[in-house]
Amino acid sequence: MTQVQLADITEIRQPVRVDIRDVIPVYRRVVRSGLIEKPIIVDRESMVALKGHELLESLNLLSADKAPVLQVDRSKVRIRSLQPDLRPVTLENVIEAGVEGPKLSSRSFEVYIDEEPPCVKVSLEELGIWGKLRGSTLNVYENTLELLYKSWPTPLVKLASVSSEGRSVWAKLEGFNPYSNSVKDRVGWSMIMTALEEGRLGDILYEATSTNTGIALTAIANILGRKTRLFIPKSIQKVSDTFLKALGAEVVRVPVSLTVEAIEEVDSKAKREGAVHLNQFENDANFKVHLKYTAKEIDEQLRSIGLKPDYIIGGLGTSGHMSAISLYFKSRYGDDVKLIGVQPAPEEVIPGIRRVETGMKWIHWTDFDQIVDVTREEAIEGALTVARREGLLIGLSAGAVFHAFKEIAEENGVYVLVFPDTGYKYAEQFEEYLKKTGR
Ligand code: PLP
Repeated sequence: MTQVQLADITEIRQPVRVDIRDVIPVYRRVVRSGLIEKPIIVDRESMVALKGHELLESLNLLSADKAPVLQVDRSKVRIRSLQPDLRPVTLENVIEAGVEGPKLSSRSFEVYIDEEPPCVKVSLEELGIWGKLRGSTLNVYENTLELLYKSWPTPLVKLASVSSEGRSVWAKLEGFNPYSNSVKDRVGWSMIMTALEEGRLGDILYEATSTNTGIALTAIANILGRKTRLFIPKSIQKVSDTFLKALGAEVVRVPVSLTVEAIEEVDSKAKREGAVHLNQFENDANFKVHLKYTAKEIDEQLRSIGLKPDYIIGGLGTSGHMSAISLYFKSRYGDDVKLIGVQPAPEEVIPGIRRVETGMKWIHWTDFDQIVDVTREEAIEGALTVARREGLLIGLSAGAVFHAFKEIAEENGVYVLVFPDTGYKYAEQFEEYLKKTGR
């Protein structure tokens, strides 16, 4: 009987496009138990994965260095096509898809192996999922793209003004990302890199954005020699046009109040005009980048000081970052950790976040314990409180997160507040509010 080995994960070739929804149950099981119990079956000669595609994707999303594999000979493998109307899939097709691409649909075939794969017990620790977050310890970067992903993790800082003996409150400062000074740099990078790898990144990108995604996409497009045309709701602060134009984007204001309301129009324009619409609201690269990095960073940062979160609070826009954080932490700690989403109260506008009922994709794939409504004034007050007590000028959605924390906070516990961006883009809103309240 062949032995299970730990292979370098970069040597294993994925021949299929796996739908993230098929990955989630496997991911949940692996993160919950911290153990892998079945190896990935690979073709001995080419290292193309034949079985365990969802496990391979889960391990990639956990940034594992290694994966348990069982190498088998081709003579022991049989393939059954699952799409009778199409040309039958052969073992050669699968191997070619793994070696050269393009990838096959994971639902187009099934693989049978003559020998029953042995059970194993390999821990996630053994696969090297921890301890390699810092890309550059002295902050020296080869180029401005590295400046983004090699500067992660973004800081996690204790907010002394709301912490006490029994309670510690930690802010995850996504404003430390370099381009948009927001959580959206991660999404822009992930969507662009995925499109580039799949050979579908054209010369011009169209996107509906409320500013941050637009800045992130334009910055990365500039680095890669591409252009952007951005569609921004009329409700967004005027200064956004200046930031985006300074970066070289083309800006189109659209008569809608929520960014998501523009996506159909942007989609059909992009099709007509031969542009690529990455679509942060639907593109799973958004959710995945937060699963692979943002969520894991928070866990690893807290673990480094011996803590586990009791509450994680964050805003909902596309729902990308909080859904991924929820999936990761609920898989790992179950209901010991409470996930709190923050949305604007009815009829209120808070840039970057919106109400769940306006339609979000990933939030329905995971659990939230509570959704808290916050008014615009409460969000601004929240931001001002943090600025005046902690010296951090945070954005309005971060202010909303801080307000929600104050609403639900108990005497004890470990709280993580995800602050999506900094306050500098919202000078117009702060100015108006300070004038109105005579401060
Ligand atoms: N806050 C700000 C300032 C944002 O720009 C966004 C997203 O656009 C969010 C919060 C919400 O993040 P997500 O889209 O991951 O739900």
